[in-house]
Formats: sequence, structure tokens, C-alpha cells
Amino acid sequence: MKKKILIIEDEQDLVKGLRLNFIDEGYEVIWADDGSKGLLKAQEEIPDLIILDIMLPKMDGLEVCRELRKKNISTPIIMLTAKGEEVDKVVGLEIGADDYMTKPFSIRELLARIKAHLRRETRENKRVPDIYRLEDLEIDFTFFKIRRRGKESDLTSLEAEILKYFIAHKGEVVKRDVLLDKIWGYEKFPTTRTIDNHILKLRKKVEEDPSRPKYILSVYGEGYRFLGK
Ligand code: CA
Repeated sequence: MKKKILIIEDEQDLVKGLRLNFIDEGYEVIWADDGSKGLLKAQEEIPDLIILDIMLPKMDGLEVCRELRKKNISTPIIMLTAKGEEVDKVVGLEIGADDYMTKPFSIRELLARIKAHLRRETRENKRVPDIYRLEDLEIDFTFFKIRRRGKESDLTSLEAEILKYFIAHKGEVVKRDVLLDKIWGYEKFPTTRTIDNHILKLRKKVEEDPSRPKYILSVYGEGYRFLGK
């Protein structure tokens, strides 16, 4: 699966250069040339990492970063600062940016940092919150419980992993073989049937009417799609 990088930057020449290098490294690249477009794309296109310039038309990079974190979007953000913007750098990290680079920077250095952040991100499972709430559903990943309207059920650690993966990839089609790879790993070889059985059990805990799921949808021939916030 290709990792998607969103570049929010208004300097076209810089974007062109970054784009070519990122594509060369096997990344998918999307781009926004002002802050408000960038904010939208960050939410709609679910990138794996964001390169965010500070000086931007319409909405500056600091504001974009603040808004994303306020919406609980934890995608890694590498901020680009110009020389002399040392103060912004500090503010950027305080409001939830993960890293920064000062222009002009070396592309190799940036690529190395991107790789490091993406690796960390995969490991941390996109930092799903300890308690995830969706309408009248509450999933407690610390104590492995699911609560809905006063009814509580236990969650196995495997189910918790599946749910975390779904939440981190909400809205996307999650293929069965990707789930096998991510949750079970390569060492064990459960069949796709095993996954379906786990999903059936999970639906009984998550869904109001498991026969007509609202959150964990089946995508025929592919896998599943989790609809959540
Ligand atoms: Ca700029």
C-alpha cells in the first residue's frame, strides 16, 4: 500500500521538487496551495503524513496544525519554516507538529525524517484515543470494554486491535489480506474465514442491529469499511 503525503505549500517550485522526489520514493502525493484547502484535504483524503508550510495564504500553517489537532487528527506533521522563524518553530511543536525543517533544507534529510515518522506512525497505530466515542457507543481500549446505553461487553485484545485498525483507517476499504498482515502478522496463517468470524462477533458488540451493521460494513469481495468519526 502506497503511503500518501499531503504537501500544503504555496511555493510552486518547491512543491514541484518535493513531488518528484516523493514519487520517486514510492509515495503518493497530493497538494494544496493554501491553508484552508490544505485543512480540507487533510480531513478528506486521510494522508499518512503532512508537509506543512507556515507562511500560507488564507490560513497559516500554525492555524492549520491547531485545527487538525483540535479535530483529533493525529497524522504526523512536518512543518516547513523559513529562516528567522525560530519562534514559529517552537510554537509549531507546542501545538502538535511532530517535526520541522528550516528552508532551505536538504531533500535527503527530509526524506529520512518522513520515513522515520511513517514508521513510528505504523507502530503507534495512528494513536487511537484510549476511549473512543461514536454516537452512543463507547470503546474503552484501556480496560477492553465496549459500552452502549448502559450495556457493557468485554473486548478481546484481538478485537481491540481490529477496532483500532478500523478507527485509524475509518472510511477506507480495509482488505482482508491487509487485516491478516497487520493484525495477525505473517507468522500465523488464519484463513479469511477466521477474520469474518471475528467480525461477526465484533458486530454483536458494536452494532445495535448486527444483521444490519451501521459501523462495520462489508465491502463485497474486498473486506470491510468502518464508518466512524
Ligand atoms: Ca509559503
